[in-house]
Amino acid sequence: MKRPQVRDDLALMEGYHSPQVEVSVRLNTNESPVPPPAAWSDALHAEMSQISWNRYPDRNATALRAGLAELYEVDPSMVFAANGSNEVLQCLLLAYGGPGRSAGLFEPTYALHSHIAKVTGTAVVEGERAPDYSLDPAEVDRVLSQEPNVVFLCSPNNPTGMVEDPDAVRSIVERVGNYGGLVVVDEAYGQFAPWSAVGLVDDDQPVAVSRTFSKTWSMAAARLGYMVAPTWVVNALESVVLPYHLDAAKQLAGTLALRFEPEMRDRVAQLVEQRDIVAAGLGELPVATWDSGANFVLFRPLNMTGDDVWEQLLARDVLVRNCASWPRLSGCLRVTIGTPEENRAFLGALGEILKP
Ligand SMILES: *Cc1c(COP(=O)(O)O)cnc(C)c1O
Repeated sequence: MKRPQVRDDLALMEGYHSPQVEVSVRLNTNESPVPPPAAWSDALHAEMSQISWNRYPDRNATALRAGLAELYEVDPSMVFAANGSNEVLQCLLLAYGGPGRSAGLFEPTYALHSHIAKVTGTAVVEGERAPDYSLDPAEVDRVLSQEPNVVFLCSPNNPTGMVEDPDAVRSIVERVGNYGGLVVVDEAYGQFAPWSAVGLVDDDQPVAVSRTFSKTWSMAAARLGYMVAPTWVVNALESVVLPYHLDAAKQLAGTLALRFEPEMRDRVAQLVEQRDIVAAGLGELPVATWDSGANFVLFRPLNMTGDDVWEQLLARDVLVRNCASWPRLSGCLRVTIGTPEENRAFLGALGEILKP
């Protein structure tokens, strides 16, 4: 047999991996430390029995979209839902990127932006952030001068946790609109942040905002994300997404979750409080940190390597994300905010390691 080869442009690419290790304190993937409310699981179990499994699901996810539209006070035609916000991003690139087109982004940022761009055959115009990881105006000028079809922003940014400056985002949206591009603001952690670009979304603005049930809604297992965007962007995505991509159980899970919006807000508030406690704890230790508007904090040990600290945390049964060998993040680690007990365990272990 002559084994078929994948596309030349995929041959050297690696998939996206986040290794899981069995530990008691797992703070490496920015999930919620607690499950969704028990009343949500009960409602889901009860209503699952109503699903007509022999029929295709509602192709338009009508109830889910209507619920999200109500939450964000937009028309349902401005809402799109998908299998995780990663599928939203993929659909955006299938529609607005692709061969002969490009996506601009500012590193370091969420690795999936450039990864999905490459998978969809979209060229990447890579900008650099300033040394403090804020947007560098000169780099913004350089990237926008190449008129990428899609410009990715991530606010709060992963893995730095930093929230983009609202004026900078507005100015980028205006400039990108002048040459006919689309700005995508990835707000996977938007509910933890002090401001959101959802307020900018309007049929006359080239901006789409993606969000997810994975982090704030404690529903990473459901693989459900969504976008709030101009109607014409939603229509474009409908033309590239696979028919019936959202199964009936998932639509139900998401629709029912919206009934628990007050509980979700409460959890977010508790995690924000814990984030401030973790940030204050890190402030007492020999590490550099960055202001986070998300449910995680990036830090860099000053007197030890990131790899050594990561290993020693693991030896104490605490798993954080090791970014130490990632480009532009030399020596950095990223800790997800967990329960108060998990956060205390993390700070205690880190204190032992750094200040023996
Ligand atoms: C976790 C994360 C996502 C989430 O993706 P889902 O597919 O919705 O789970 C998207 N963007 C960023 C920046 C993330 O960190």
